[in-house]
Amino acid sequence: MDKKVRTRFAPSPTGRMHVGNLRTALYAYLIAKHEGGDFLLRIEDTDQERFVEGAVDIINRTLEKTGLIHDEGPDKDGGCGPYVQSERQAAGIYMEYAKKLIDKGEAYYCFCDKERLENLKQEVAGKEIMIYDKHCLHLSKEEVEEKLASGIPYVIRQNNPTEGITTFHDDIYGDISVDNSELDDMVLIKSDGYPTYNFANVVDDHLMGITHVVRGNEYLSSSPKYNRLYEAFGWEVPTYVHCPLITDEEHKKLSKRSGHSSFEDLLDQGFLTEAVVNYVALLGWSPEENREIYSLEELVQAFDYHHMSKSPAVFDMTKLKWMNGEY
Ligand code: GLU
Ligand code: ZN
Repeated sequence: MDKKVRTRFAPSPTGRMHVGNLRTALYAYLIAKHEGGDFLLRIEDTDQERFVEGAVDIINRTLEKTGLIHDEGPDKDGGCGPYVQSERQAAGIYMEYAKKLIDKGEAYYCFCDKERLENLKQEVAGKEIMIYDKHCLHLSKEEVEEKLASGIPYVIRQNNPTEGITTFHDDIYGDISVDNSELDDMVLIKSDGYPTYNFANVVDDHLMGITHVVRGNEYLSSSPKYNRLYEAFGWEVPTYVHCPLITDEEHKKLSKRSGHSSFEDLLDQGFLTEAVVNYVALLGWSPEENREIYSLEELVQAFDYHHMSKSPAVFDMTKLKWMNGEY
């Protein structure tokens, strides 16, 4: 028997709920519910610099209003709250998993200072990049222990191969490969003890039993790189479903100026929640039947992610206005 389908919406609380974020949440919800599975909510707030006060409230409010209710999470105020990465970080989860990789030889402590890293920078095709030279991989166990004991700041890096190719499969976009020489020994745990976004993301997807990773296609090109973490741990790789870009009528990125960048903007303009959800569902997915008006329950019945498109979807205000009139 196949595993129960489990998806998650994993927003970073950096501001408003953009139309693209709402669509990602909706598709993750629909993929799970279509199969009778679970939908989880995980707040990815380990990047202290990008955190915006009040953003979590906006996420909760939007999901509640649109009916995208998550199924489980830690006990909070008598209900189940979302999973919150800063709380999981405080519980030591990410450090524990980084240490597992160190024990397996898949990661290592790096004590290099700013100046040394600065000197590793090189210009490639007009861009300044830094490929770490694995200097600290060659420290002896004693040297590492001595440095840790003396309190020198450190990061934990992944020990990636420098030869060969890493390929990962996305169910919408197909196979995507990177040359391992481009992988770099990326940082998993930063010097402040916080995990990097990608490390926490992969560890949590695994621990939460996520079967389908649904997210915006801005993550597509970096996915092979982060996929290597599954290999390093020896974990089963989930199915990836990257959602196509959404543009405005001029094929540009959605902006605040054009009035359709966030869910709350649209409600302020008088659009009904149901119409927005219905319209957003059709941005990148076409139903098999010739039909456009769906309630959330009807979307759950009809949604098959294999009919998602890889081409950018155009947000058409006129169409949304028409749809709004149908409710
Ligand atoms: N935390 C990421 C964001 O807010 C989402 C990454 C993911 O869904 O894997 O864009
Ligand atoms: Zn180092």
